[in-house]
Amino acid sequence: MHPRVRFAPSPTGPLHIGGVRTALYNYLFCKKFGGEILLRIEDTDQTRFVPGAEEYIVEAFRWLGINFDEGVQVGGKFAPYKQSERMHIYKQYALELVQNGWAYYAFDTPEALNECRKQAESEKRNFQYDVHTRNNLCNSLTLSEEEVKYKLENEHYVIRFKYPENVEIHVHDIIRGDVKIDSQLLDDKVLYKSDGLPTYHLANVVDDHLMEITHVIRGEEWLPSAPLHVMLYKAFGWEAPQFAHLPLLLKPDGNGKLSKRDGDRLGFPVFPLQWKDPQTGEISSGYRETGYLPEAVINMLALLGWNSGTEQEIMSLDELIQAFSLDKVSKSGAKFDLNKARWFNHQYMQHKTSEELSGDFEKILSEHNLQVPHDKVIKVIELVKERIYFAKELWEQTSYFFIAPDSYNEQVIKKRWKEGVTEHLQKVLAIVLSVSPFDKITAHDAVMNYIQTNELNMGQIMNCFRLALVGDAKGPDLFEIIDFIGVDEVKKRVETAIASIG
Ligand code: GLU
Repeated sequence: MHPRVRFAPSPTGPLHIGGVRTALYNYLFCKKFGGEILLRIEDTDQTRFVPGAEEYIVEAFRWLGINFDEGVQVGGKFAPYKQSERMHIYKQYALELVQNGWAYYAFDTPEALNECRKQAESEKRNFQYDVHTRNNLCNSLTLSEEEVKYKLENEHYVIRFKYPENVEIHVHDIIRGDVKIDSQLLDDKVLYKSDGLPTYHLANVVDDHLMEITHVIRGEEWLPSAPLHVMLYKAFGWEAPQFAHLPLLLKPDGNGKLSKRDGDRLGFPVFPLQWKDPQTGEISSGYRETGYLPEAVINMLALLGWNSGTEQEIMSLDELIQAFSLDKVSKSGAKFDLNKARWFNHQYMQHKTSEELSGDFEKILSEHNLQVPHDKVIKVIELVKERIYFAKELWEQTSYFFIAPDSYNEQVIKKRWKEGVTEHLQKVLAIVLSVSPFDKITAHDAVMNYIQTNELNMGQIMNCFRLALVGDAKGPDLFEIIDFIGVDEVKKRVETAIASIG
């Protein structure tokens, strides 16, 4: 098997994270079998075109490290890969279907169709242009040859697909199995319009055929279109690709599709990159800007709706390719889980070397006007790395290494700063200062010795000492911090804390 798959977004706005997952599953599937993936831009509906959306899509995959073998920007033997540049191709195919009886011209005006709709509504029916109604409407099935000829030259028309009567259409879906639909229920979809624009259905099927696509892997929302696509392949006499319709990404509570609004409401991105709406200026957050690592996003998305059948959760792109199979894609929707997303990022942060994280951290430090020698930057990262979920947390987790705290956590004060603490802190400070030259192990042992001989409460003394140096109850080993900031700074901070807390 040598699969050829495609990701075929319409540039109608930022790419939803569910779309990224669709592209990822296409990628994993085809790479597993050494096949190709192409990126095709489906922009036949010019009314829905949004400037910047195509660039956004390309940039999102660049960031994620998903490389297309063919497509917009990279080119390939079936170029162009943007449907608006392929408009000259589609008409002949629509005409071919009219000639062989699989399609017909329809001349009904929007007003006439509206009338039909109203009439149906008043009789509590739904109006559909289909096998039941087409013989009473204005089209090449009902008009004479001359009338049709005249109208084609003088009026607007569309070309509609002509479903055969009373057939059961079978769609085989790799994930869902056999889906059967009665042709009597389907509406004769428009394939082509007289303004020279094909609809999504025609352009999509023609391009999949011309680009030799073997597997159509796409979101579940396209399942209702599959019978038409299957019939189009039949009408053209082409071999149909195999279909796999992926389950939806659901809201965290499982109630409905994950939407753009959910991200804003629940505080997580639903787009790979930040997006600014060109019309309203509204900004939607992106995984990149929120501080997610692309590898973490890929790993998280791969496991939203698919499982490898093993316990292993952290998987590189190569491991995912090896393990992926469409038959392990679940049939039901996958709930988005913010904590899991954060967990993946945390895991991937731990895989980064301190050197790799240092660039981000140095940027943050210089935003705070701090010039810190590189070896010290590395040292601090090493000390706090295991607590970090996002690089941007580095500052809030480490600021006390560089500047004295300007406030003290009230709760810690209330719980720990009791009678006698001040005196003990002064003693502890004197012990630390007496270790000369300073050595963190000697200092640690001396302080412990003082606490034990005087039968003091260890948690109380050490937390107050930490509060004085850090401003809070957080951070790595206190003697590491002392070692880093130096004993003079320790003296200053303890004295300031005693003066301000009392
Ligand atoms: N252009 C369609 C979309 O925006 C593609 C659907 C398909 O993959 O066939 O999702």
